[in-house]
Amino acid sequence: ADLYGPSRKNSAGVELGHDESLDGLLAEIAAASGKPFPAASAIVDGKPVGIAARPVLSPIDGKSIGTVAEADAAIAEQAMKAAKAGFPNWNRTPARIRAAALRKAADLMEARRGLLLALLQAEAGKTLDDAISEVREAVDFCRYYAAEAEAKFATPSVLPGPTGEDNRLILRGRGPFLCIAPWNFPLAIFIGQVAAALVAGNSVIAKPAPQTPLIAAVAVRLLHEAGVPSSALHLTPGDGALGAKLVAHPDVAGVAFTGSTATARAINRALAAKDGPIVPLIAETGGLNAMIVDATALAEQVADDVVMSAFRSAGQRCSALRLLVVQEDVADKMIEMITGAAKELKLGDPRAIDTHIGPVIDAAARQRLDGHVAAMRKLGRVTWAGETPALDGTFVAPHVIALDGIADLTQEHFGPILHVVRWKAGQLDEVIDAIEATGYGLTLGVHSRIETTVARVTEQLSTGNIYVNRNIIGAVVGVQPFGGHGLSGTGPKAGGPHYLMRFASEQTVTVNT
Ligand code: GLU
Repeated sequence: ADLYGPSRKNSAGVELGHDESLDGLLAEIAAASGKPFPAASAIVDGKPVGIAARPVLSPIDGKSIGTVAEADAAIAEQAMKAAKAGFPNWNRTPARIRAAALRKAADLMEARRGLLLALLQAEAGKTLDDAISEVREAVDFCRYYAAEAEAKFATPSVLPGPTGEDNRLILRGRGPFLCIAPWNFPLAIFIGQVAAALVAGNSVIAKPAPQTPLIAAVAVRLLHEAGVPSSALHLTPGDGALGAKLVAHPDVAGVAFTGSTATARAINRALAAKDGPIVPLIAETGGLNAMIVDATALAEQVADDVVMSAFRSAGQRCSALRLLVVQEDVADKMIEMITGAAKELKLGDPRAIDTHIGPVIDAAARQRLDGHVAAMRKLGRVTWAGETPALDGTFVAPHVIALDGIADLTQEHFGPILHVVRWKAGQLDEVIDAIEATGYGLTLGVHSRIETTVARVTEQLSTGNIYVNRNIIGAVVGVQPFGGHGLSGTGPKAGGPHYLMRFASEQTVTVNT
């Protein structure tokens, strides 16, 4: 094993152009959708313990697709207690056995992709492409962290010391770890956090987003089946208030959170104020992700990459492009090509295989995005608007909005809305400074055929994930470890060689021999 981890293969893709693979896949999805989805519930020590079930609504048409019995304060307390009790035994379990459970979970996910894909589509509104990528990412996280744990946690490192002394460095779990996942990757990020925390030796209390509890419950059951003891992994679905209760609990030994910057701040404050151990927060939050395009960029490539980065996945990725910063000389042509390409995108039911953009997650999200577009329209800044389909779901059409300067975008708008700013030749340093000054640092694109321009951008900007002459979404586990800094999060990068360390506590043992 080296710094970049032991050798390992990422999960295989599906050749959608190949009729047989596609037919097989669609049949698996149809079989899973043909019966009711398994009901979700709070799970403590393997038992469903949730309070009165509520319906889970699909963003596709607003209809109920299942039920969740959430956790209340008493159940949260019960889950914390169970996680505390389950910790020592799991922490003592050899890392190789913990890793084997993750590998088994990865195999089970591949074997049951029909149900996972059907849930990603129905519950999170994902297109088939996005759903397939997400299952693959979830599988990759499990196998990657399994390999990492075997390489780094299985045997203590022997350290140098004076004669007559034996020094070892041992990595162990910290205790009950709270994992709070977002709805935009309700399988991949959910299971990524949980798998990392578990394989490092922690017990886990997992809180999925209120919008996506069904797939979370399936994932937890699957991890139990794969060999994670039910005493080591507990599920507490609920809203933000429940999350706040869990965060404030004195027994929490660490928190992994993906979501908004504002919530990460609130968690940080709560952790600082609570009794009990001083614990780490691992937060991956938002971005004001920019793409710098100069006059030498290949226009067709830029158009494809912008449309992919800004509009696919309905713009509901932390990594999505929010701000195109294009050199004035080519701006009109680029915008025309981008809107030309965007017009080809089909919005609608994501279960249809020719759909490119599904719904946004819920009515509140649509309302926020519609509000932003309306405000920009009043200011005469909407350059282009796609067509919203006449469907029941929460659809938002792609939009292009012109801004005067980079500093005019002050907030992440989590949907298919692209802002465009123009810059003049000779202003690259100002552009770089303005992007750095946003305080965010998640993803960044640069399109240029001038090497020195690319070098200046990559050297001067501190953004977490920089992509040159390509799109800026879809980081691959072990290939583009993902995560930012500043207002975009604490690091370490998910799917990278340092991620597990933040979930661990380090111990040295010195023996006088
Ligand atoms: N890792 C994903 C990507 O590179 C984004 C994750 C997120 O939205 O939090 O597109």
